[in-house]
Amino acid sequence: MTHRVQTDGTNAGPLRTQRRLESAVTGIRGVVRFNAPLKEYTSFHIGGPADVLVEPADVEDVVRLATQTREQKLPIFVLGGTNLLVRDKGIRGVVVSLAKLRAIKEEPGSVLYAEGGVGMPTLIGYAIRRSLSGLEWASGIPGTVAGCVVMNAGTRLGEMKDSVKAVRIVSPKGALIDCPAEAIEFRYRRAMLPSGVMVGVWLQLRQGVRSDIEKVVKDYLHYRRETQPLALPSAGCVFKNPLNDSAGRVVEAAGLKGTSVGDALVSTKHANFIVNQGHASAADVLLLIKKVRARIAQQTGIKLELELKVVGEA
Ligand SMILES: Cc1cc2nc3c(=O)[nH]c(=O)nc-3n(C[C@H](O)[C@H](O)[C@H](O)COP(=O)(O)OP(=O)(O)OC[C@H]3O[C@@H](n4cnc5c(N)ncnc54)[C@H](O)[C@@H]3O)c2cc1C
Repeated sequence: MTHRVQTDGTNAGPLRTQRRLESAVTGIRGVVRFNAPLKEYTSFHIGGPADVLVEPADVEDVVRLATQTREQKLPIFVLGGTNLLVRDKGIRGVVVSLAKLRAIKEEPGSVLYAEGGVGMPTLIGYAIRRSLSGLEWASGIPGTVAGCVVMNAGTRLGEMKDSVKAVRIVSPKGALIDCPAEAIEFRYRRAMLPSGVMVGVWLQLRQGVRSDIEKVVKDYLHYRRETQPLALPSAGCVFKNPLNDSAGRVVEAAGLKGTSVGDALVSTKHANFIVNQGHASAADVLLLIKKVRARIAQQTGIKLELELKVVGEA
């Protein structure tokens, strides 16, 4: 669907923006969707529209898109969509989903190369079939492999930084940059990386025993099903764990499980999850977050930091 703006003089600004958006996506072979509702692309099922949403067909398409977007002086935002709260007016400029970059290949020395859009569950399934151990900790994380590197995703069993060997990034100028793990500074739920679109990740795994790997994965998925509200849309944990404590424990101890604003609810199963019970808006979620933080700060003095990334216009 192409969103065109009226051509009368009063709309000169929006018209120029529309032309720049169209120039940014000229020649793209993948999917191009103007005015795309981002609630369809986020695990929270929340979010206003992207001016234009692009699913590049391959890395060459990403290079073209990055170059043209820069030429048009438009912002670019990449999403997997599982750690995001997109505000209700959506995201201006170009939003990229790497849903079509899904190739995985095995390299010598127990190394896997995964394109940026490969989902962690798919990658773990691939590793299991080749008896490669090292990603079991990530069982049940729904993000893309690139999103997991950017977030340095982790569980009590491990973190992304334990497995990353190198990453491939398309820079804003359209250059391909291979960046070794030693050049990346990993911190708690974030990684300092060159800017650009991460189109591939090399993972250093080790040869293991398939049945042992499968058992760890199965047990961890069972643990998640028992402890996390997986039946309702969410973006995983909302807050980072405070030093030597767990955000879920802190929120639960404050008696905040079951608190809601509109359809946004502090899960009764896991207090660090906010779930969307149907039609929650980003404004609902943000107000709920504000209430939780205020109560925790008042009761304990702890300032909870967001793990969730809040993006877009209110
Ligand atoms: C049910 C559920 C359970 C979860 N459990 C966990 C958990 O146990 N541990 C954990 O750490 N997280 C967990 N998460 C959160 C989430 O899956 C992770 O944070 C994941 O790393 C996000 O990946 P994503 O691809 O969805 O990225 P997004 O959430 O879309 O983006 C995160 C950041 O990465 C950037 N980014 C994404 N892809 C690219 C790319 N290709 N190039 C450049 N930048 C990029 C985005 O711009 C954004 O800044 C959970 C989420 C859900 C819904």
